[in-house]
Amino acid sequence: MYDVTIIGSGITGSFIAHNLAKYQLKVLVLEKDVEVGDGVTKANSAIIHSGYDPKPGTLKAKLNVLGNKMYEQVTKELNVDYKRIGSYTLAFNELEEKELRKLYQHGIENGVETYLVEKEEILKKEPNIKDTVRLGLYAPTTGILAPWDMIYALLDNALYNGVEIKTSNEVLNIDKKEDHFVVKTNQSTYKTRYVINAAGLYAEHITRMVTDNPGFKMNFTRGEYYVLDRGYDDYVHHVIYPTPTAKGKGVLIVPTIHGNVLLGPTSERIEDADSTEVTKVGLEFVKNHVNQMINNTPYKGIIRTFSGIRPKTDRLDFIIEELNDTPQFIQVAGIESPGLASAPAIAKMVEEMILNKESLETKHDYKIYPQKQVKINEKPIDEINRLIKQNPKYGTIICRCESITEGEIIDAIHSPLGIRTIDGIKRRVRPGSGRCQGGFCQPLILEILARELKVSKTDILLDKEGSNILTEETKINGGDGNE
Ligand SMILES: Cc1cc2nc3c(=O)[nH]c(=O)nc-3n(C[C@H](O)[C@H](O)[C@H](O)COP(=O)(O)OP(=O)(O)OC[C@H]3O[C@@H](n4cnc5c(N)ncnc54)[C@H](O)[C@@H]3O)c2cc1C
Repeated sequence: MYDVTIIGSGITGSFIAHNLAKYQLKVLVLEKDVEVGDGVTKANSAIIHSGYDPKPGTLKAKLNVLGNKMYEQVTKELNVDYKRIGSYTLAFNELEEKELRKLYQHGIENGVETYLVEKEEILKKEPNIKDTVRLGLYAPTTGILAPWDMIYALLDNALYNGVEIKTSNEVLNIDKKEDHFVVKTNQSTYKTRYVINAAGLYAEHITRMVTDNPGFKMNFTRGEYYVLDRGYDDYVHHVIYPTPTAKGKGVLIVPTIHGNVLLGPTSERIEDADSTEVTKVGLEFVKNHVNQMINNTPYKGIIRTFSGIRPKTDRLDFIIEELNDTPQFIQVAGIESPGLASAPAIAKMVEEMILNKESLETKHDYKIYPQKQVKINEKPIDEINRLIKQNPKYGTIICRCESITEGEIIDAIHSPLGIRTIDGIKRRVRPGSGRCQGGFCQPLILEILARELKVSKTDILLDKEGSNILTEETKINGGDGNE
């Protein structure tokens, strides 16, 4: 019997697993996808918002502000790249100026450090901003990180401290018993005392497995983006937001932790949680809105487009509560933006909900997993040479755009969490994230994965189940052209 089963390995489930790993509890994480963190957390703006924007008094406001503060410590502890680059929210007309002053008051009520700044100051810090700008709101604590770097670090650490993580395990049914649950997946059946529903877009679906009254209705809103290549360092230095509207934060300009820039997202209501296509209309919308704020956007540097889907609910706030008619079933639903920024605080709240119900002892042998990820492209030449002597595979470049070596890819495949797909490798070590988007390195990574996992190349997946890249061998016996 497990004590706690967490459904979902996004940023929410991963932080909860990390927090519970400290206690003498038998914890299980179930994930339907082949890789962890392949849901909402995979595709967003990757901003650790400062917290001035959510309406004062909401859970979103409280947990965003707290979460932002907590990231400083947890990223240091788990060795995850994180930068507080600060943000400017901009007003270009009288109406926006009025809204911005209201936001400033929100910031004060939420306890966030913000400053109203004049046009001259903004243009000094961000010379590409249009000189029609009238007023800005500067928030120095806005941060950026790669959400999947955070997830891998949290789950490596959770695994190291005894948490079990089972991917390709889709929860199909939950049977409520007197004092426990029986969770059935497509692979097996697990008994557990607590269920934590951190299933993102599928939270309502999971809750309906135990009650007809989930207490909320799920909606989906798609956001589409452009990604700019690295190398445009002078374009923007901070996160740039327009003045938000009732529809949300609007189209942003966001430097990423890896040196790219994101432009987007849109906000379009959709019916299907899996509709992650990008559209001509959506991308034009992004360009128009970016062009209203800033000059000199290097559109020639676009290397990719993508979209993500927001798990909104009709309650318009995070829902973190034990289900009324089902004790020990904890909902963590409606985790839309600022869910990434709030995740450490959401996990703390869930941890406290369990601590309020029973006394838990911490593990005597709890230790932080000593992450040893080698990043060759960040090392000085002497250090690279030393590493190549230890492992010659650090000398073979597989991804030319990002300078990623075979040694780093092999390390990722054999990391505690293990990586099985091309996209998993891309997220963990970045080959395929550069200008050629995997045109050169994808076949090489496929070969390395097949060799290291000791499976056929035709078994290697791009991401989800069924996304095999090769279907059958076309050249038998080395392909002499006569077969
Ligand atoms: C366009 C966009 C921009 C955003 N920008 C920001 C931002 O800049 N800053 C910010 O703070 N927040 C942002 N967010 C919000 C943030 O991305 C989310 O709040 C956060 O990623 C939600 O994480 P999660 O773990 O709750 O959900 P998910 O990451 O979706 O994780 C849920 C997991 O549950 C799994 N699952 C579902 N059903 C089952 C099942 N039956 N069995 C087993 N597993 C299951 C899924 O596969 C998934 O891996 C943005 C969101 C979007 C869409």
